[in-house]
Amino acid sequence: DNIIDKSVTFKELGLCDELCEAVKKLGFKHPSKIQKEALPYAMKGKDIIGLAETGSGKTAAFALPVLQDLLNEQRPFFCLVMSPTRELCIQIAEQFEAIGADINLKTSVLVGGLDMMAQAISLAKKPHVIVGTPGRVADHLANTKGFNLKHLKYLIFDEADRLLNLDFEKQINQILSTIPKKRRTFLFSATMTSKVHKLQRASLVDPVKIEVSDKYQTVSTLIQNYHFLPNKYKEVYLVYLLTEFSGKKIMVFNNTCMAILKMTLMLRNLGFDAVALSGNLTQTQRIGALNKFKSGGKILIATDVANRGLDIPSVDLVINSDIPANPKDYIHRVGRTARGGKSGRAVTLVTQYDVENFQKIEHLTKVKMSEYPIKQDEALI
Ligand code: ADP
Ligand code: MG
Repeated sequence: DNIIDKSVTFKELGLCDELCEAVKKLGFKHPSKIQKEALPYAMKGKDIIGLAETGSGKTAAFALPVLQDLLNEQRPFFCLVMSPTRELCIQIAEQFEAIGADINLKTSVLVGGLDMMAQAISLAKKPHVIVGTPGRVADHLANTKGFNLKHLKYLIFDEADRLLNLDFEKQINQILSTIPKKRRTFLFSATMTSKVHKLQRASLVDPVKIEVSDKYQTVSTLIQNYHFLPNKYKEVYLVYLLTEFSGKKIMVFNNTCMAILKMTLMLRNLGFDAVALSGNLTQTQRIGALNKFKSGGKILIATDVANRGLDIPSVDLVINSDIPANPKDYIHRVGRTARGGKSGRAVTLVTQYDVENFQKIEHLTKVKMSEYPIKQDEALI
């Protein structure tokens, strides 16, 4: 169940030469499953509802058809993508820009916590693609002169389930009321909740539904281990693992901001190159942390704020230092590695208090994990 489908090429799906060249530059040799299913319908002008797990390549699945259409018809405010978090919006815009690098694509990112004025200036340059959180997009529609979506052609909801969980319904409806009824709408989500269903009925016309895989499956290229240990040895074992995997790109998950802070300080004092990413940081700090990790940082210590959709390339190892209380969070966390058909490993630390949660995870993933061994002579405990 590799996410890439080697049976077909982008060209065979109808992607134009310019964009085939662009995806090749990004290292995409073949489309992913969701891309293979969605592209032909999207390029025929159908509305689409796409259900697919994290890391399945949803961004390009909507970006490519939009850009292909934009090549025929260069016009401003062509596409609006709504996504639940600032980090996700930035990453989506980056993917659009990477694909559109050779076609003079202009994008704007409209997210909270960043300067409204700078965003208004960017809107004045008449971008083709706008990516934003619903709150900030609605703010700009209400307050930024010269910005409207009267000629919008594509509306995209990314991670619709999370958009709705975050209570963006009001702002979404506000935005919907200002954009043309005649448009194309794509809705992507990991899960089909009743709220998503309602949004689908309110905004999509006769959509094609594409579901690529069991949403609670981990990919087969992921090696999943646990290590059973007394709670008081957690930090010692974590240091052991980080030393064992030194040089690799590693994400460590904890459940609380306090644990993140404590662990990051400890690791830095021990000389590890660790960066913290948690909800109590300011927006600028969060983006800074993510950029530091992306541009060569080795260890990212994160809460579940980073557990979905964030595209952190080639993480080799995910360590669950704290086991997640919700087994679905486990799937999202380990989805940071073994992406795009690559291999990866996840090690979950299981203490005497975590046995029940551990069983829930094995039950949900239907994967029996093996114990990650300690080399005896190197063992510190
Ligand atoms: P999702 O939104 O489904 O979680 P993303 O769109 O963020 O997934 O893509 C996950 C990762 O896979 C990204 O690093 C992206 O560049 C990569 N990717 C997407 N499509 C392909 C492809 N066809 N071939 C190789 N890598 C891909
Ligand atoms: Mg995504």
